[in-house]
Amino acid sequence: MKILIMGPPGAGKGTIAEMLKENLGVVHLSSGDILRDAIKENNPLGMKAKAFMEKGVLVPDEIIIELMKEKLNTDDSILDGFPRNLAQVKKLEDANIQIDIVLNLQVNEETIISRISGRRICEKCGKIYHLKNMPSKKEGICDICGGNLYQRKDDEPQTIRERLNTYKQQTEGLVNYYNDKGILKNIDAGGNKETTYDKMAGLEWLKKKKYR
Ligand code: AMP
Repeated sequence: MKILIMGPPGAGKGTIAEMLKENLGVVHLSSGDILRDAIKENNPLGMKAKAFMEKGVLVPDEIIIELMKEKLNTDDSILDGFPRNLAQVKKLEDANIQIDIVLNLQVNEETIISRISGRRICEKCGKIYHLKNMPSKKEGICDICGGNLYQRKDDEPQTIRERLNTYKQQTEGLVNYYNDKGILKNIDAGGNKETTYDKMAGLEWLKKKKYR
């Protein structure tokens, strides 16, 4: 079973995917995290991707596909951030990797900007915080592992607009694509993470799952 989480930057894909992962016992595959890890490890593909990410545009398909390739064979997983355009959808289909359900998180632009600009991330374990909505107990320090919290370069205000444009131009069309296939569920994700999760957990498809 493969679940794809879609939505604009700041919709809460990573946060909701982590909650699903805990509750369903499945793997969370975040293409953004995979890229950021590749950069941290000085992987040549990561180094090539860095400048695109900092600008807020998509990295070339061949880079992300190469990095995701083996990970995509995991049976039960939540895909977060991949596929992000039709060429990537096609790659998955050519490899006979089937997406069973697409959760489309819907949020208005004002909320997106406030969420992204306040987002902070632990440099060690990747846990996501928000300066106002989900602050760490001690400013700048992760509650879980004591790592330092940082702001992603592409979360800085001048890049947020570019990422939203990229989303509209290249990714949003996939919503219709999956809707036409009959596997799309729209979820209002404008509230806090618990409210959003409850909306999803109330869906029949999730109740029927027998992971744990
Ligand atoms: P995210 O953490 O999902 O917001 O991704 C951060 C950045 O990584 C994006 O703005 C893109 O530059 C890059 N990225 C992540 N996933 C993909 C993908 N599937 N295709 C191309 N670029 C990606």
